[in-house]
Amino acid sequence: MANRVGIALGSNLGNRLTHLQVARDMLLKLMPENDANYTQAPVYQSEPVNCPPESPDFFNTVLEIDYIGTPYQLLEYTQGIEFHLGRGIVYQENAPRIIDVDILYFGNETIKDTILNVPHPEMTSRRFVLQPLADIRPQLILPGDKATIAEHLHHLDSDEPPLSLVQSDW
Ligand code: ADP
Ligand code: MG
Repeated sequence: MANRVGIALGSNLGNRLTHLQVARDMLLKLMPENDANYTQAPVYQSEPVNCPPESPDFFNTVLEIDYIGTPYQLLEYTQGIEFHLGRGIVYQENAPRIIDVDILYFGNETIKDTILNVPHPEMTSRRFVLQPLADIRPQLILPGDKATIAEHLHHLDSDEPPLSLVQSDW
C-alpha cells in the first residue's frame, strides 16, 4: 500500500532551480510511470534562517508523492539524491548547500530514532516549509497533532520575513 509522503527540497548554492528540478525528477522515478500521482508546490525564495553570515538565499519547495516502501528506504533514496547532486560533507552547521531533501511526513507514521524523525520535528515552525505545504495541503493534520498546516502557518511568529514567490510552474 502506498503512503502519501511529504518531502521538502531546499537549495542555496549554484543553480538553485535546476537542483530542485533534478531532485524532483529523481523522486518521481520512485512512482509507477502511468500513475504519477504527485503534487508539487510553487518554488519560494527565503532568507537563510540560523545560517552562517553571508549565506545565499534559499529556494524552497515541497512535494507530495505516493510512495511504496519503508521510511528508511526512502531516506536512503533521498540521501542518494543529495549525494548525486554533489552535496559534500557539511563542515559547518547549516552551511550553504546544493540540495537538502527532508522527509516531512510519511502517511500517519511517527518515527523517532537516531537516523529518522518523522514528522520532521521543525516543520511546523518553519515558514519555508509551511508556506509551500499550505499551498498544496492546507487541511493536512500531522499524526499526533491537532492543528492543520494552514493554522500553523497562520499562527507562525511573524518576525520571520515573508517568502517571495519564484515560480509556480517549474
Ligand atoms: P538538516 O536537514 O537538519 O539541515 P541534514 O540534511 O544534514 O540536516 O540531515 C542530517 C541527518 O538528519 C540525516 O543524516 C538524517 O539521518 C537525519 N534525519 C532525521 N530525520 C530526518 C527526516 N525526516 N528527513 C531527512 N533526514 C532526517
Ligand atoms: Mg536535511
